[in-house]
Amino acid sequence: MQKLQLQGILYDDKSSFLKGPAQAPPLVREAYKSDAFNFFAENGLEIRPEIIKDLGDLEVADYFDIAHFTDTHLNSRLPLITLGGDHSITYPLLQAFHRRYGPLEILHIDAHADLYDTFEGDRYSHACPFARIMESGLASRLVQVGIRTLSSHQREQASRFGVEILEMKDYRPEMLPKFQGPLYLSLDIDALDPVFAPGISHYEPGGFSSRDAIEIIQNIQAPLVGADIVEYNPTRDVNGMTAVVCAKFLKEIAGKMLENSPGDF
Ligand code: MN
Ligand code: MN
Repeated sequence: MQKLQLQGILYDDKSSFLKGPAQAPPLVREAYKSDAFNFFAENGLEIRPEIIKDLGDLEVADYFDIAHFTDTHLNSRLPLITLGGDHSITYPLLQAFHRRYGPLEILHIDAHADLYDTFEGDRYSHACPFARIMESGLASRLVQVGIRTLSSHQREQASRFGVEILEMKDYRPEMLPKFQGPLYLSLDIDALDPVFAPGISHYEPGGFSSRDAIEIIQNIQAPLVGADIVEYNPTRDVNGMTAVVCAKFLKEIAGKMLENSPGDF
């Protein structure tokens, strides 16, 4: 019986510095299915391919096609994991989730706040999705963790939108808030220190270990209805290591989704 859904978004047009994340979804799937690993999440649940409804990958012609593609998949009410793609995809993803669930709580793990009003002339840049999400009222609460690149403009944006930022320099696990749910998790893989995930476009030292980020996910108490794993850039990877990191997070997020069943949301 299928209990989860998975989709990929082959898109990096909104990447400001390097292209590459459009190639990521098939490589994460391949790492997840590799004979080198079993399918168990650390909570003991087995995330076998048979329990995942794989919706395939979207070749994006128009940015907002991402929302329409996602809309059709949310009718089934199964929790949905999306493989990116650059982080710009999270805005149209949340448009679709909002139509299905109303305003969601969002936990955003990233080196960057992605709160620019506009970046290099583009309001839909991968540096902007959380500004679009907040000004459109798609989130009831936005909590950001791992942030270590705040500009003055982004600090102003955060206070304007009421974003709760746990900066990396201050971070302690016990500072993580409790969510009510339904919750959406957006994981930019550059939240990790580049030592743990070299396949990214923007190296920002001083980040989370893989274990730190796994613990954040394992500590989620609320029903988790959606998640994305974004910004994996295979052109920068070393021995496919970051693909394996993404596959590990895919299993941990899926395990958490099954553990905290969304119930009647
Ligand atoms: Mn990001
Ligand atoms: Mn980032």
